[in-house]
Amino acid sequence: MPENKQVEQHGGCVCGAVRFVTHGLPDRITVCHCLWCQRRTGTAFGTEVVFDEAKIIFSGGDLKAHRHTSDESGRWLDMHFCSECGTNLGITVEVRSGIRTIPAGAFDNPEWLDQTDTDVRHVYTRSQRHWGDLDQAVKTYDGYFE
Ligand SMILES: [Zn+2]
Ligand SMILES: [Zn+2]
Repeated sequence: MPENKQVEQHGGCVCGAVRFVTHGLPDRITVCHCLWCQRRTGTAFGTEVVFDEAKIIFSGGDLKAHRHTSDESGRWLDMHFCSECGTNLGITVEVRSGIRTIPAGAFDNPEWLDQTDTDVRHVYTRSQRHWGDLDQAVKTYDGYFE
């Protein structure tokens, strides 16, 4: 894999209707163990590969979004998904405009993120499920990172 930041990565949803290309490296990978991410993903955590919105180009079928408004902050968060198959295709949040995430599992090459030195942060580990146990070596935060 080239070391330069122009590297393109492809990915998409389960049914193949929605495709995307990302340009360059992400800002970070946030693995979120909060209860809300457990519910929205149906598993132990959400994996958010965080990009500048301008670095992602979507093509093909329609994306839909569900807007969730936080009871605590009153701010919105849009959950994006394929309108055909429902695959999770990331989130955008009011609090950080211009930022867009892609779930780590949606890339065609599941190994490319392992080949970068992208910072990985595990947040809301206070609600981490034991059946999704982490290696003790990873960097963790009891709540969100500051
Ligand atoms: Zn789809
Ligand atoms: Zn979360």
